[in-house]
Amino acid sequence: MDKKLDKFAIAAALQEISALLELKGGVNRFKARAYQTGARAVVSIAGDIGRALSENRLTSVPGIGNALASQIRQLHLTGTSSVLDKLKAEFPPGIIELSRIQGLSTSKISKLHEALGISSVDDLKTAATTGKVRNVAGFGAKTEQSLLEAIADHDRDHKKQKRLHLHQAERIAEQVITYIRTSRDVEDISIAGALRRGAETVGTIRLVACAKNPAAVVKHLLRFPLIIRVDEQTDSSCEVELAEGAVVFLKAVKPNEFGLALFFETGSQTHVTKVQEIAGHKGLALDHDKLKLTINGKARAAKSRKPLQVRAETELYPLLGMQYIAPELREDEGEIEAAQKKKLPSELIQLDDIKGMIHCHTTYSDGKHSIADMARAAEAMGMQYLTITDHSPTAFYAGGLKLDRLQRQWEEIDEVQEEVKIKLLKGTESDILSDGSLDYPDKILEKFDVVIASIHSRYKMDAVKMTKCLITAMRQPVFKIWGHALGRLIQRRPPFACDVEAVLDVIAESRAAIEVNGDPYRLDMEPRWIREARKRKIKFVISVDAHSMGAMNNLKYGVAQARRGWLQRSEVLNALPVRSFQKAVRPS
Ligand SMILES: [Zn+2]
Ligand SMILES: [Zn+2]
Repeated sequence: MDKKLDKFAIAAALQEISALLELKGGVNRFKARAYQTGARAVVSIAGDIGRALSENRLTSVPGIGNALASQIRQLHLTGTSSVLDKLKAEFPPGIIELSRIQGLSTSKISKLHEALGISSVDDLKTAATTGKVRNVAGFGAKTEQSLLEAIADHDRDHKKQKRLHLHQAERIAEQVITYIRTSRDVEDISIAGALRRGAETVGTIRLVACAKNPAAVVKHLLRFPLIIRVDEQTDSSCEVELAEGAVVFLKAVKPNEFGLALFFETGSQTHVTKVQEIAGHKGLALDHDKLKLTINGKARAAKSRKPLQVRAETELYPLLGMQYIAPELREDEGEIEAAQKKKLPSELIQLDDIKGMIHCHTTYSDGKHSIADMARAAEAMGMQYLTITDHSPTAFYAGGLKLDRLQRQWEEIDEVQEEVKIKLLKGTESDILSDGSLDYPDKILEKFDVVIASIHSRYKMDAVKMTKCLITAMRQPVFKIWGHALGRLIQRRPPFACDVEAVLDVIAESRAAIEVNGDPYRLDMEPRWIREARKRKIKFVISVDAHSMGAMNNLKYGVAQARRGWLQRSEVLNALPVRSFQKAVRPS
């Protein structure tokens, strides 16, 4: 066996260094963060790490400096690192795992190691249950008891999952898939679960793979170096916890079971159960364990018990007499009934439909990149137009533009326009003020190509006042797009209180549209409100709310959220070509 480490093993070593530096504390914490970033950067390197090293490309990867590059080189060539070896020598074995137990300092862990040879949480549990810990100097019966309680808490915490935001879950899923694909056995692999449904947050990252020998794929994943804990394991599945705290579940099946496995693992649970019931009413049995669709033995018409062929997931729904239901819709929020009546939207919006990048900030307000940078990035993504919508003066904390700066920005947009093919549209993200008026006088607002109107403060205003404020804003004569509608930040700030339906009623008869915000921390508005708005024939834009070039990747999350709200292509204004879009959103 070659001792050269691959990028995954190198990342695992860097993560170990980071954890040990964290334990040393003090200024080492900053170094710890650098190694953590480095570990992620290494996994993201395309292709073989050996080649990247021989071509001296490592330090050009963001997050990898000279010091880190030299450790990576050492790890790759020798299988070990001088920094890691030195750190390991400073601590007893098992220190990282043991330090997670409440009340165990590093010095206490050292004492336990010297006295009883404890080097894991399991060792500690055994020693404490058999009353050995109380005899170690500095411990005693009371400490022993509280350690046992702390171990129980620790086990419970492991089961309590941390929920990931979409972009985080996606990054980790991609790393794991890249690794699984290095197995010769795997034929196909797909994301499933909440991530495939584009849900707001993801608990367990679920994956489905198929192979002639599924057990080999499971075994392969279990060798993934970033795994810190295996929670569950069979011949066809496993659930593991990764160093960053994410939980990954893999189901591995035979190729002819792939479609049904994907259906079951994608969920949601209530959707799956309801579809199983429908199969039952049709005299069929949709079996989760056997991954088969069979004619129910009790049904009279049953001539044989031979399973029906379901080669792909798309074939399942028609076999049960309904339209195919896209993953983003599978929440049991009416999609099954609609699919049975063939009333699901037939042209759900897709990423490819989007022609314009909407809601982008530049260095003129709080964005990281220049107008030219943003223009080129959007052009590289195949966009026909880009709306530049920096903040208005009231958002002074975000560098909102006063009139003189706005004038300068327009001149610069004109200059950049000379150099790029993509059409640049002059816009603003205008604050909605407390009385429902918009920032900038009407005379100025009318000169923009596009106006986004957003609430950026007063989130605690009472619901009646907020509703009134929004209604006044939506009734303003200029056409405006309601930006990040309810101001929520997922897992951080709830949507503000207001009568959403009353506001939607007003939008339906005013010059306004609504934004589906693709920022994975926002994903505003929620699917149920999108569906309420659809009933009123309100139009939407899908935006990125980008404060950097990289954030243009938010587009896919916005599209997923729009699909969760059942939006069709014809309801999305930035699926229009540039001229029609301009006409549709023209403020005056
Ligand atoms: Zn905003
Ligand atoms: Zn914004």
